[in-house]
Amino acid sequence: MAGGAHVVGSDAEALEIADAFAAALRDGAAERDRQARVPVEELAALGRGGLLGLTVPARLGGADVSTVTLVEVFRRLAAADPSVAQVPQNHYVFVSVLRHDGTEEQQRRLLGDVLAGARFGNALSERGTKHVMDMRTRLLPAADGTLRLNGTKYYCTGALTATWIPVFALDAQDRLVVAYVPRGADGVDVLQDWTAFGQRATMSGTTRLTDVVVAPENVVAHWRAFERPQVSGAFGQILHAAIDVGIAGAALADGARFVREKARPWFEAAQERAADEPHVLLRFGQLGAKVHAAEALLRRAAETLDAAVASGPRPSAEAAGAASLAVAEAKAFGGDVAVEVASEIFGLMGASASDAAHDLDRHWRNARTHTLHDPARWKYVHNGNHIINGVLPPNHGLV
Ligand SMILES: Cc1cc2nc3c(=O)[nH]c(=O)nc-3n(C[C@H](O)[C@H](O)[C@H](O)COP(=O)(O)OP(=O)(O)OC[C@H]3O[C@@H](n4cnc5c(N)ncnc54)[C@H](O)[C@@H]3O)c2cc1C
Repeated sequence: MAGGAHVVGSDAEALEIADAFAAALRDGAAERDRQARVPVEELAALGRGGLLGLTVPARLGGADVSTVTLVEVFRRLAAADPSVAQVPQNHYVFVSVLRHDGTEEQQRRLLGDVLAGARFGNALSERGTKHVMDMRTRLLPAADGTLRLNGTKYYCTGALTATWIPVFALDAQDRLVVAYVPRGADGVDVLQDWTAFGQRATMSGTTRLTDVVVAPENVVAHWRAFERPQVSGAFGQILHAAIDVGIAGAALADGARFVREKARPWFEAAQERAADEPHVLLRFGQLGAKVHAAEALLRRAAETLDAAVASGPRPSAEAAGAASLAVAEAKAFGGDVAVEVASEIFGLMGASASDAAHDLDRHWRNARTHTLHDPARWKYVHNGNHIINGVLPPNHGLV
């Protein structure tokens, strides 16, 4: 159980709190990136401020904000510091898992903990296997009758500082379950071995699970989610899309500021300021149009997702497919734009923009790293297959 936290009352309040939190994050983002510092205090403040409870159902006392609002919260936080913004991405996914597949008792207990400020990390992905769906971690009954969890995970964003670590494992029948494990439980070892060149403060490294005793009441039968059309995959993906779109906007704004305040004009331009050079204005106008298009696609995807959720507890294959495609398009395009803008601004800012003192390369490093989460090419393929052949995207957790 975490300490007390503010309970957010409405979508409007969620955005106000996000703006205040983003303002507090913005100034320290470059320093946290340079030092690859674990943002312990920042994450504690996130919990206290109430943003972690945004998607807890209203009947349990949560704000139950729309996806449109949650995505906008993510976009604004990511524009300030995408590393800190990515840490709770899986938190909301595992709140959603409890909402859809948890028992009433699990929802009351674990989501009550979330309202008090608890955060879910995650330990899902594994290295050394054939592909991301090839999983070795097992949750099996031991001779003494307890359930034991064994395996090694990587890409465990948020696990290092979480209250609970939801772990993907296969049970005795080879079915996918989520075991919600307290971070401090015996046999749980979260390493600080994350050395990526971007999203450095996410600390997305290894979690080792050795004979961890798991209480049966902390296990959720996640395989059930995929027996019917679902939007939980799209929900996780749209939060990633918001992070990329946030980075794109921040890179554009930082690039424009640098051109206004520091860049000098090229001698052939016959201008007093780089900010008056027609070619610079043209290129910023083109990049700005792409960022705004990415923001519009993101909002459209969030609205489509909200519509699928509002259509009932079990959306139709068509509603779920429409949401997944809209999210896939927003994520693939948003990621492409983030990488392009974060790179292109350097050609407009000039040589001194490469000075490490400005840390402007963090936008590109963060965008390039974060967009490796899962390949954009498959999003476009699913989209193309729908446009040409009318085929809905597959019903899995990564689209
Ligand atoms: C910043 C960031 C954060 C992420 N956070 C999460 C998260 O929180 N949760 C989540 O589920 N996913 C997360 N991911 C997604 C993760 O990228 C994918 O889930 C996936 O595991 C990557 O798979 P890949 O196919 O790209 O393989 P890669 O990870 O590129 O691996 C390629 C191959 O090399 C092998 N390999 C590489 N290094 C080692 C090693 N040291 N030891 C053994 N084998 C090795 C792998 O086994 C594999 O065969 C994150 C990704 C990024 C970029």
